[in-house]
Amino acid sequence: MIEILSPTEVARARETGALVGHTLHTLKGRARVGTNLLEIDAWARSMILGAGAVSCYVDYEPSFGRGPFGHYICTSVNDAVLHGLPHDYALADGDVLTLDLAVLLDGVAADAAITFVVGSSPRPEDLAMIAATERALAAGIAAARPGARIGDLSHAIGTVLRAAGYPVNTEFGGHGIGTTMHQDPHVANTGRPGRGYTLRPGLLLALEPWIMADTAELVTDADGWTLRSATGCRTAHTEHTIAITDDGAEILTLPRRA
Ligand code: MG
Repeated sequence: MIEILSPTEVARARETGALVGHTLHTLKGRARVGTNLLEIDAWARSMILGAGAVSCYVDYEPSFGRGPFGHYICTSVNDAVLHGLPHDYALADGDVLTLDLAVLLDGVAADAAITFVVGSSPRPEDLAMIAATERALAAGIAAARPGARIGDLSHAIGTVLRAAGYPVNTEFGGHGIGTTMHQDPHVANTGRPGRGYTLRPGLLLALEPWIMADTAELVTDADGWTLRSATGCRTAHTEHTIAITDDGAEILTLPRRA
């Protein structure tokens, strides 16, 4: 199903998005060497519930996971890239951490992810990989406007990722979002322009370029959820929820300025 939201619903999505952006920004600021992934999950829980929002993850039980997820945020470290199940692990200097968060507030969902290096000793190649996902996301957003096709966004994202030298996985990508977290249309992280659904105002999309340094192949962790690079290489993932507006796109999941 493809949902087109009313202006009132888009206004609500703006509030949900601000909460997601603020929560991720806050958690990034708190994640230090020695911080446990379970602490981050507890902080996320208290921020989400404190804002009167509902987690999209706790009861999530899709076909590809060993559900229900049971946690409030995805924490993916180093070779883990998607659906990272929080577990008893203390972050080390130089770890690459992805936080992915989706919540519902007033019945409308927003979904975003950030990747950053913990501590003070980032590897240049990790920073380059993170930057590539951020540039790819910006390119996808720049291509999003009424009349554009989903393939235009996929092409814009994939062109940046491949130009930076990374293989692109096509199993998991972005998606429509609205009154539920995952909806049609699927937004692959590579594709041909001029193909697919035509964007219109009121459509919400979660765009999420993610890459692994030297492979496009995933393996599932023994925890039944966490997806890791098949080669053990490091990974990065950046995501925003956007709303298609009358003349372009609005990013909904930025932290709101104080
Ligand atoms: Mg998503």
